[in-house]
Amino acid sequence: MPVLKKKPATVAKKTSKTTRSAAPTRAEKIDDKLIKLGLRSDMDKVLHLPMRYEDETEIKSISAAGFIFGRPVQVEGVVTSCEVAFRPRRQLIVTISDDTGQLVMRFLNFYGSQVKQMAEGNRVRARGEVRHGFFGAEMVHPSYKMVIEGAPLPAALTPVYPAGEGLSQTILRKTIGDAMARIEWRDTLSDKLRAELDLMPFEPAVRMLHNPPPDIDESALADRSHAAWVRMKFDELLAQQLSMKRAQMARRAKGAAVLPTIGKLSRAFLKQLPFSLTAAQQRVLEEIRADIRQSFPMQRLLQGDVGSGKTVVAALAAAQAIDSGFQAVLMAPTEILADQHFRKIAGWMEPLGVNVAWLTGSLKKKEKLEAKERIEAGTAQLIIGTHALIQEDVQFAKLGLVIVDEQHRFGVSQRLVLRNKGVDTNVHVAQQTIPHQLMMSATPIPRTLAMTYYADLEVSVIDELPPGRTPIVTRVIDQNRREEVIERVHAAALEGRQVYWVCPLIEESEALQLQTATDTHQTLVEALPDLQVGLVHGRMKPAEKQEVMDAFTRGEIHVLVATTVIEVGVDVPNASLMVIEHAERFGLSQLHQLRGRVGRGSAASVCLLLYQGPLGMVAKQRLGIMRESTDGFEIARKDLEIRGPGEFLGARQSGQAMLRFADLETDQWLVDRARDLAQTLLRDDQATVDAHLARWLGAREDYLKV
Ligand code: ADP
Ligand code: MG
Repeated sequence: MPVLKKKPATVAKKTSKTTRSAAPTRAEKIDDKLIKLGLRSDMDKVLHLPMRYEDETEIKSISAAGFIFGRPVQVEGVVTSCEVAFRPRRQLIVTISDDTGQLVMRFLNFYGSQVKQMAEGNRVRARGEVRHGFFGAEMVHPSYKMVIEGAPLPAALTPVYPAGEGLSQTILRKTIGDAMARIEWRDTLSDKLRAELDLMPFEPAVRMLHNPPPDIDESALADRSHAAWVRMKFDELLAQQLSMKRAQMARRAKGAAVLPTIGKLSRAFLKQLPFSLTAAQQRVLEEIRADIRQSFPMQRLLQGDVGSGKTVVAALAAAQAIDSGFQAVLMAPTEILADQHFRKIAGWMEPLGVNVAWLTGSLKKKEKLEAKERIEAGTAQLIIGTHALIQEDVQFAKLGLVIVDEQHRFGVSQRLVLRNKGVDTNVHVAQQTIPHQLMMSATPIPRTLAMTYYADLEVSVIDELPPGRTPIVTRVIDQNRREEVIERVHAAALEGRQVYWVCPLIEESEALQLQTATDTHQTLVEALPDLQVGLVHGRMKPAEKQEVMDAFTRGEIHVLVATTVIEVGVDVPNASLMVIEHAERFGLSQLHQLRGRVGRGSAASVCLLLYQGPLGMVAKQRLGIMRESTDGFEIARKDLEIRGPGEFLGARQSGQAMLRFADLETDQWLVDRARDLAQTLLRDDQATVDAHLARWLGAREDYLKV
């Protein structure tokens, strides 16, 4: 029977070819873990550089070690006793001695094998901090190894690598050492270039960082100012600049819908706005207008602080697309926000004869179908919606402009999907055009950071708020003064002001967060019997959320208890008091976003940040920043100082930290040089560009955040 015969044969072949049997081998398990760390190729491994070093090149006598405090030392001795004690708790107590004295090693967690290893008379080399405890001089959980007398000491500092779960330093050292023996060391930068830039050659720099000689300047190594580090940082930045510029050239080589017409709609729209644009809005609008007139796709990030009026600028860009005979789409991260945009923009545009469609996940099947038909037929000129826009299999008839609000809430791939829905696949690839892209964000990313982290992105900034806003007063208040805060809420509501009460963020458990929100709601309902207290949270159905938001907008709810679902975009101008519980748990940008829900009308607004004491230094500092500043950019800058770029951008945005070695703040001078060299190389020396990118990007093409 051919079937029976065939089957085992295939299996056998597969196994031998990929050496992958049902249960992964030890080597395969290690490989998987290395891949999780981003280490696939030999070069990836070689470029996995130590985060610090241990000095095992020297042995101190035990008596001398007793006088070294606050840093690890290495000693060597012979075991004179080894016993398991049971009081005050189970532990392994090993005494070693050399000619000068004796020292106790204590292990609170240990294996039976360790007890055997450290039998009396065996020789141990141990490294740790010496303390003077109950047993005299002691090391708790030192790192150690068994040695024979006269075993040689390492000649270089011992590297300590960033490790993933289940990867020991021993495995990493061996893996990296093996990879170093296999790679081709050729320098990607010529002698001449290196001389001009005063850079160390590649191979000695890498080798030095993996195995630094004991006499190296350790502080230069630690703060990464050593020439070997400078070379690595420069190479990394050069790769990043090259890939960015290349992406930019690739974009410019693509076609886009030309949207040149500032016509009837644009003019009528501006005329009927109840306000005039601020100078900053005017300026960024001109930047966008110029971009979308071009025949290659715009890729622009519109940044503006909370409340700076990005929506109207986006709507005007959409008007230009429509005036030019194309469709425009606006995608928002939440249903609440999409709905708000829809009402506002449809309210402006529909009276001017624009056909606006609405597509979200909560629509009924029939309504979705109807919306899709209008989009595909091209009758819908402006389309507003949520993720549903990318999830539903809708193809746009003639999409010219994609607008993504609160872009940091979306992944790169989601934005790409939306953009690609505008590509007309019926025409030949060479004629396909890509829609222009406008991304908006109120999470202000400092400019240098934006330019370095996001590949090929133009940035426009609205740096001024519309006139007539009264600044928000922020107070930082201890949680145990909650009673007073509730009093204040009561008084404000009686004056006709509306209040947001934001529940604590509980990152580790959504269920718990929900519970807290319901509890808080209950407490406030009881404490404020004469007021209407509403509740909105992420687990509610979109329609339910909408109902509550509507009631709040109409002023029928005085106090709205909310989880962070109200964080982005929500615009209810009559709300002028905001209470945020456990403010110390939020990120600064998030606090700023939340606070931005008030201060939208002319009434003086107040934000009360409740915290649970006692606060640590950093927490105090951070809440202090919130109290002192209402400028989103300033807050972002400070936040960046405290947290560093990786964490600042958040996992969603930065993916893995894209720059491993260089630091944008301290290495700005290197960024500038790398940028200049990238320019020259792309013009004159394609071979070097290719070699350098192959080495540094490897599998991780995504220095690029499109
Ligand atoms: P954001 O930039 O946070 O998205 P919005 O676009 O929601 O801000 O605008 C905030 C509020 O300011 C809205 O109610 C909007 O209508 C109003 N607004 C926008 N531009 C102006 C302006 N130039 N003058 C007065 N009010 C404006
Ligand atoms: Mg907005």
